[in-house]
Amino acid sequence: MPSLRSGQQRFFGSGGPPKSGRIEYRLVRESLLREFRRGRLGRTDVCDAQPELLRVARNLGRETSTECPICEECNLVHVTFAFGPRLPASGRALAPGDLPKISRRPGELACYVVEVCTECSWNHLLSTFNVGRAAASR
Ligand SMILES: [Zn+2]
Repeated sequence: MPSLRSGQQRFFGSGGPPKSGRIEYRLVRESLLREFRRGRLGRTDVCDAQPELLRVARNLGRETSTECPICEECNLVHVTFAFGPRLPASGRALAPGDLPKISRRPGELACYVVEVCTECSWNHLLSTFNVGRAAASR
């Protein structure tokens, strides 16, 4: 199983989009939280959201009713990033309501959903999925 941290590096780095389907990372999340609770990972290991991600989370994040598993001080927000043709190489953060619009454009997009705590900087890639014409034609 790929480790979370390398997964996130792919997400923030220049790695390509996932090939197809929806991939969930909840099991990775659970094992990471287990390691944190056992003390094998420190808070700085898991609360490492970059300033840009925190900014996007504050502006475009979708509020959830899930409490942050690390600081337990506020609820997590979900941010969706899209990668694909005519989008910036670093991806585009989607505002709520953007996804239906953007998925009608020609070409396949890879979307990444990240949960973020704007309080303690916990962040985790939750799932990836593809939208767009190529995905619909399969
Ligand atoms: Zn937190």
